[in-house]
Amino acid sequence: AYNFNAGPAALPLEVLQKAQEQLVEYQGIGMSIMEISHRSSQYEQLNEETQSLLKELYAIPDGYKVMFLQGGGSTQFAMVPMNLLSAGKKAYFVQTGAWSNKAIKEAKLFGETAIAASSEGEKYSRIPDLSQLQLGDDAAYLHITTNETIEGTEFTELPDTGNVPLVGDMSSDILSRPLDVSKFGLIYAGAQKNLGPSGVTVVIARDELIQDSPKHLATMLRYDTHAKANSLYNTPPVYSVYMVNLVLKWIKEHGGVAVMEKRNKEKTSLIYSAIDNSGGFYRGIVQPEYRSLMNITFRMESEELEKKFVKESEQNGFVGLKGHRDVGGLRASTYNAVPFEACQALAAFMTDFQKRNG
Ligand code: PLP
Repeated sequence: AYNFNAGPAALPLEVLQKAQEQLVEYQGIGMSIMEISHRSSQYEQLNEETQSLLKELYAIPDGYKVMFLQGGGSTQFAMVPMNLLSAGKKAYFVQTGAWSNKAIKEAKLFGETAIAASSEGEKYSRIPDLSQLQLGDDAAYLHITTNETIEGTEFTELPDTGNVPLVGDMSSDILSRPLDVSKFGLIYAGAQKNLGPSGVTVVIARDELIQDSPKHLATMLRYDTHAKANSLYNTPPVYSVYMVNLVLKWIKEHGGVAVMEKRNKEKTSLIYSAIDNSGGFYRGIVQPEYRSLMNITFRMESEELEKKFVKESEQNGFVGLKGHRDVGGLRASTYNAVPFEACQALAAFMTDFQKRNG
């Protein structure tokens, strides 16, 4: 199948084959990685190696901790304010769409929030003008959603926040392009789009932000618990971390994050061109400057035609092209693991569908 699912999403075929090869017996230990103790030397090594690979691929500077947590991006919507938002301070947000709104809603449960910039008035068809950012001196942090998975927008530059920590939800674009991690105080991402299967959530954070969580917080919801225990406070999602390890090795073998970006640009330009050259038959939802390299969103003249497109695409082996139920339309998710050939096939299908229905 040509898998354009938004998440969980495509995994590299080579990674799945490697996992299949090692499923029953991991590295000569007589059992599966799923069966070993997380206190074993094998898991400790896997835990360390996976952190190192991420640090290497993303050029994460010293002074940052990589953690493997559970509960998905959605738990981070709460953990970030629980740990970083203190009384008298505000959590600031760049409001860019559905996922940033969920993060805002959750933060409101724990303290005061403020909007530093918003594109709500433009139906989230762009990233707001970052030069107009309104960040008060009461800011605990500024939260951005680097890629809005549902609307299909992506930050192309990062806001300048001075001394205020920048927090990034990178659930849907982590490792899709090079990134200056030093600009962030904290980054989080559920694994199930670019990193591996669901079950593990990666948090990359500056040491000083996470070494002293408020004392009243539940143990599992404190960053300092996991930082001090090197992500081994309780039983970690061993198999998901193992899969992330394989995906990171795959990225490294293919030349790293800069190569991922190049491939993603080539892939998406095929589909965006099919939209732009269709004379209005397909209409991109997002202003071209802010178009995502991960989630391509578009509409057609009528919902009826969109339904027909989805149905025929499924008959032709394409999976996951229906837009999110909240916004409708169509969406092709082109994460790192989606091959160039799948995008070529989709662009050809789009052109052909237009010929038959235009
Ligand atoms: N943030 C973004 C940008 C997402 O795309 C998603 C899920 O699609 C989430 C957060 C929520 O992640 P999870 O399902 O891991 O809780």
